[in-house]
This record gives sequence, structure tokens and C-alpha cells, in this order.
Amino acid sequence: MSVSGTCQICGTREITDDCDRCGKLVCATHYDKELGYCTECATEVRGTTEKPPTPDRDEFPDGVDTFRS
Ligand SMILES: [Zn+2]
Ligand SMILES: [Zn+2]
Repeated sequence: MSVSGTCQICGTREITDDCDRCGKLVCATHYDKELGYCTECATEVRGTTEKPPTPDRDEFPDGVDTFRS
């Protein structure tokens, strides 16, 4: 079973998930895996109560550590 079409938020990317809150079909970019919501709902839910645990703009000294042997 697969959904086809484009994200209902950005309208450009392929749908990968659906929001458990509003049912919107969204791409990976606009889906919050932690909550299982689209980013719009995640922002609503989080915006009032808790802050996102992971800082977006922090130092990543080992950010290029993509190679594993
Ligand atoms: Zn999107
Ligand atoms: Zn939603």
C-alpha cells in the first residue's frame, strides 16, 4: 500500500507519511517522526508546551563523520 501525490504542505515533494493528528499527507521534510505529526501540528503542539530537544543551530564539530569502516 502506497500513497501517491505530493506533500500537502510544500506541494513539491513526494508523500512519505501522514499526520496522526490532522491526517495531512506530507513529505519527510514536513513530517515529525517523534510525534508522528506533520510539522504544522508539531509546531502547534510543541510551541505551547515543550521545546524541541535537538538544537538546530549548534556546533557540530564532527558533522562530517559520515564514513564508517
Ligand atoms: Zn513537504
Ligand atoms: Zn498535522
